[in-house]
Amino acid sequence: MTASSSHAVPDEFAEENTTIITLEDELKNFKLQSFNVESIPSFITDLTQALNPLEKSFSYSLDAAVELERLNKHEQVRSLQDKIPNVIELEHQLKTQKKILEDIQNRIRREPMNDIVEAYKREWTRENAKRQLLSDKKKYKKHSYYTGFKHEVWQVNHEENEPMPESDDDDDDDDDVVVGHVTLPTTCPITQSFLENPVKSQTCKHTYSKHAIMELIRKNRGRVQCPNSGCSQLVTTNVLCEDGLAERRVARMRASEASQRRTQNFYDVE
Ligand SMILES: [Zn+2]
Repeated sequence: MTASSSHAVPDEFAEENTTIITLEDELKNFKLQSFNVESIPSFITDLTQALNPLEKSFSYSLDAAVELERLNKHEQVRSLQDKIPNVIELEHQLKTQKKILEDIQNRIRREPMNDIVEAYKREWTRENAKRQLLSDKKKYKKHSYYTGFKHEVWQVNHEENEPMPESDDDDDDDDDVVVGHVTLPTTCPITQSFLENPVKSQTCKHTYSKHAIMELIRKNRGRVQCPNSGCSQLVTTNVLCEDGLAERRVARMRASEASQRRTQNFYDVE
């Protein structure tokens, strides 16, 4: 090897005014473009899927609470009830993350973005600060998990139309909205008989027998106004999900009717 050959540089790389772009420059100038958005939906789907087991676990704990109430184990029911805020909080966090990602996704579709992590952190902090201003009553006690739990449990040892009294644990009187008597549905608004394979609209929270609502949707070419009187929401197959709570409620009601009939027959024979 001679000294001259070691620094022989091919002519095309020896341009005088070459600007060297470092990886750092690349990163600094990197912007997410609309075509980069593709990976976000799968992340949003993951979050959506994380929400499903949460709803299921709540529904199982409610099942347990109903059984415990029937056995008059009120303390255990109470301890399940006390855990509901944790579930609500977790659900809220997942939903907030999902919403922030969806917003970012929409923004990138309109304009390239380079501060996606910062934008995410900023929104997350803002949402949490907003939530901290809410009272427990607003956050938890009016949530459908909480009110649903209390009403389901109440109905175990009370007549169907007996209104539930205002609860004793609403010690913060920060607002005046009174939660009225909630009727937990056991009949389908379409068939007027016991719910069968109940499905619930996630938009208006009304429940119907699956075959009945599917038939209505089919006849109306994919969308129908909610058949619950006074509800103007549209129902499509996309917004329907299984209503396990209603299904078990109907099963309980059928069982109690059957046992009443047995008692009645017994006295009739006497
Ligand atoms: Zn409805």
